[in-house]
Amino acid sequence: MLTELKKVERQAISQAADLLAAGEVVAFPTETVYGLGADALNSAAVAKIFAAKGRPADNPLIVHLYQAEQAEALAYTNELFYTLAKAFWPGPLTLIVPKKDCVPAIVTAGLDSVALRVPAHPAARWLLQAGKMPLAAPSANSSGKPSPTLADHVYQDLQGKIPLILDGGAVNIGLESTVVSLVSSPPAILRPGKISYAELLPYLPNLLPPKALAAAEAPRSPGMKYTHYSPQGQVLLAAGGAVFLKAYRSLPKDKKLFIIATSQTAALLPQEAAPFVIAQTGDIQAYAHNIFAAFRSADAAGAELILTETVPVQNDDVSMAIMNRLNKAAGIGS
Ligand code: AMP
Ligand code: MG
Repeated sequence: MLTELKKVERQAISQAADLLAAGEVVAFPTETVYGLGADALNSAAVAKIFAAKGRPADNPLIVHLYQAEQAEALAYTNELFYTLAKAFWPGPLTLIVPKKDCVPAIVTAGLDSVALRVPAHPAARWLLQAGKMPLAAPSANSSGKPSPTLADHVYQDLQGKIPLILDGGAVNIGLESTVVSLVSSPPAILRPGKISYAELLPYLPNLLPPKALAAAEAPRSPGMKYTHYSPQGQVLLAAGGAVFLKAYRSLPKDKKLFIIATSQTAALLPQEAAPFVIAQTGDIQAYAHNIFAAFRSADAAGAELILTETVPVQNDDVSMAIMNRLNKAAGIGS
């Protein structure tokens, strides 16, 4: 299959809408990462997402909506759902709610709940409006690869397997959405993301913090058991500054190394380390934005060992989401 890569504009959107109506899959940018979408109510179309990605069938998909009211047709909602929708949508928050029968089992991996999100990216919104259907859309990477933050990443992974990639440039956030379960009691953050525990707390006073959840994560959120954030090389983690320098010095020099560090740490390293400077030290938004691309660069360089600087974790910000992805990439707690 020929994979077309097209800039987001009227003709490309209408081609994408036609493909979706015909039961095909299309990759498109969202504010978190690129998604691979199909008509959420068409099982055969959704099956093509799993086939193109090589995604295990027990990893459920997020259904993307143009507006919150579309949830009525797909799920059992309540006042709390709409309060959260009003506060955070469009945006990087996914809500898990009980599903209605019309949502095919393939979308939810057989669960009786469904994940819903209204994305904020203009191209995603344009496509959802033009397509006039809810889109089941996981990240548009091959299963097992880091999530795609550029159209080119999608092309590298899915070339020849999907008909169209809408190129909207680099995504803004670079980490996947925060996933909150409204079917568990108390409500729980199943996957940390840009929208933090602290931001959610005023709406969900008994919300379980992501840390407390670590042990219970796997059974509640099936997909989280997969390390779908890993580059090919082995990821090693170290804090910045002197700790990082020490970790660097202890690496075996007969392996192909790839060093990911923030600016201040990078400045401490010897020249031959040639670090990939992911962000200015302390700029966690930039760090989040660049981490998946950094892992992809490591893969492209054929790295065997990838020493990656961690970020200091604060309970109420994106640092927790970054550490969640880094720990998974390093095979810690997954
Ligand atoms: P992705 O779009 O690739 O980031 O994957 C979506 C993730 O959302 C899955 O891996 C699950 O962790 C989570 N998810 C989707 N649907 C559900 C659900 N019904 N219950 C719990 N978690 C879900
Ligand atoms: Mg994914």
